[in-house]
Amino acid sequence: MAVERTLSIIKPDATRRDLTGKINACLEDAGLRIVAQKRILLTRARAEGFYAVHKERPFFNDLCDFMSSGPVVVQVLEGEDAIARNRQVMGATNPDEAAGGTIRKQFAENIEANTVHGSDSPENAATEIAYFFDDSEIVG
Ligand code: ADP
Ligand code: MG
Repeated sequence: MAVERTLSIIKPDATRRDLTGKINACLEDAGLRIVAQKRILLTRARAEGFYAVHKERPFFNDLCDFMSSGPVVVQVLEGEDAIARNRQVMGATNPDEAAGGTIRKQFAENIEANTVHGSDSPENAATEIAYFFDDSEIVG
């Protein structure tokens, strides 16, 4: 295992319900240090760019509408095995299938409004972090 960084997003369903603090506590309790964080409003175009890998999926348009419907908190998390560790604390995409204690099990509204995003590989983590942060904004 190595120290990694991963990109996390607290999605609009969560900021609307003021869950940022509770979600950050889950991340920190799981050994993930928040080394960069900002609350922003994604334009539709920026959401489309972020989820470009999903552009052929039937849910793409709804997903981009949702992700630009309210504030998000974009974050860089750092820790041992951070990419897999964050995916574990997030839980399954569909909250009905998420394990007990995970963020999505506790907080997600449905399979789309599922509270958090997390990078799924080292390559995607690097690309996704660079999509939102300059190196100078990340303080480990
Ligand atoms: P994850 O966020 O768990 O990595 P995916 O990368 O497969 O999941 O999907 C990206 C996001 O698209 C999900 O987090 C969710 O917001 C949305 N999504 C995925 N599958 C569906 C679906 N079947 N219906 C509606 N939205 C979906
Ligand atoms: Mg994904």
